[in-house]
Amino acid sequence: TDNHIGWKMDNSYSRLPNIFYSLQAPTPVKAPEVVIFNESLAEDLGLDSEALQSKAGAGIFGGNEVPEGGNPLAQAYAGHQFGHFTMLGDGRAVLLGEQVTPDGDRFDIQLKGSGWTPYSRGGDGRAGLGAMLREFIISEAMAGLGVPTTRSLAVAATGEQIIRETMQYGAVLTRVAASHLRVGTFQFAANWGKKDDLRELADYAIKRHYPELAGEENIYVSFLKKVIKKQAALIAKWQHVGFIHGVMNTDNMTISGETIDYGPCAFMDTFDPATVFSSIDREGRYAYGNQPYIGGWNLSRFAEALLPLLHDDEDEAVKLAEEALSEYPEAFETEFLSGMRRKLGLFHEEKEDKALISDLLNLMNKTEADYTNTFKALTFGKLEQTGLFKAEEFAQWHEKWQERLGRQAQTKDDVHELMCNSNPAVIPRNHRVEEALDAAVKGDMSVMLKLLEILANPYEHSPEQTEFCQPAPPSAGPYRTFC
Ligand code: AMP
Ligand code: MG
Ligand code: MG
Repeated sequence: TDNHIGWKMDNSYSRLPNIFYSLQAPTPVKAPEVVIFNESLAEDLGLDSEALQSKAGAGIFGGNEVPEGGNPLAQAYAGHQFGHFTMLGDGRAVLLGEQVTPDGDRFDIQLKGSGWTPYSRGGDGRAGLGAMLREFIISEAMAGLGVPTTRSLAVAATGEQIIRETMQYGAVLTRVAASHLRVGTFQFAANWGKKDDLRELADYAIKRHYPELAGEENIYVSFLKKVIKKQAALIAKWQHVGFIHGVMNTDNMTISGETIDYGPCAFMDTFDPATVFSSIDREGRYAYGNQPYIGGWNLSRFAEALLPLLHDDEDEAVKLAEEALSEYPEAFETEFLSGMRRKLGLFHEEKEDKALISDLLNLMNKTEADYTNTFKALTFGKLEQTGLFKAEEFAQWHEKWQERLGRQAQTKDDVHELMCNSNPAVIPRNHRVEEALDAAVKGDMSVMLKLLEILANPYEHSPEQTEFCQPAPPSAGPYRTFC
């Protein structure tokens, strides 16, 4: 095939021991058609947008043609799903290869919904158009918000139907990621591989994501600590924007620190730590307020998988793992508080900031205030617009906050600028996402395109964003997600 498209593919993952994957081509589809394509991402990857929006793109994004240099494979991994350990693997995805960008960066190009693999178990290997478009919207919104995330390059409809609760249009999402290495990949190696397999996987992950660790005395302990720091920072960012992942199983936690797996996730409107959207999360394991704890739980599973590499003596290894894990709560809190300070326009640290922040969140919870819009109201001094204003304690809190702002050298303008850059005007409101998806599956992409345009610049605070700022009307009822 010709390569005017700009593919520059490598397959470093396929050079790992072969327990880590099964070579598997995507299953061709009947009538592939690109329904949405991410031009700016394609450009960053060094790909030719025009060529990819023609027939060549449909062939590739539908899985009927493999790009030049690609070597499709399904990755093996395991994971704790809602606390229960099991073998998993790419049951409906294949990694085509790694695109090396003009800047020399390397990104996995994966097709999701591309058909059967040896890890499919009972599944059909396929994905629905609505769900893939939803991943496109939310992942691109996260990128706009500045949250580390896998990206969405394209969604192709397959021209085939799939059977779910109802019949649906099939689709394939092209996902772009720093890598698809997961905590679950290490759990797989620890449980089904030899120690050498585990070591090769760790060395590969370090080289790919943390090359600065080369030469460290105990490189695997340093690696563990890096991943702990990255995940602490990531989950803090989720808390800052009110994102609820919904399925924080260990197979859905990356080694790179990117958010992955946009299944049942959603953004919170009314602030409440108990918020859960996923229809299968009946006990609230993955509720908003529980995400930091679950992050730590997952990292403990990661540390367990790494134990054989940490030290030859088992007791020493456990000690090193525990010492590394003990850094997580503070790493999370530091990241959480520093982001919250920025949201409140605070430039330096004071001991009482933690109480100032938690008092505000408690008030928001009590008054059922909209999380995003409260911070926006504080940014613009339009307090009468928020539910919070109703609380008597709010006046006291506001006075404390003003005093605190007075104890820093920065001007009102500096504070306003910091708050504008830290508090999004728009998030993907659930009813807006649903509205866009409803239109899209009926063939009208205009609503989704408009939404994506708005979500690309959430910190702009421009008038055209206004109509996208309101939470769903109460008549919409509670929002439920499925995966
Ligand atoms: P997830 O809940 O998206 O993290 O997926 C968990 C596991 O189920 C992964 O191993 C997926 O590959 C697999 N899976 C999800 N949907 C399907 C499907 N339609 N066919 C085969 N495997 C699937
Ligand atoms: Mg997953
Ligand atoms: Mg999923």
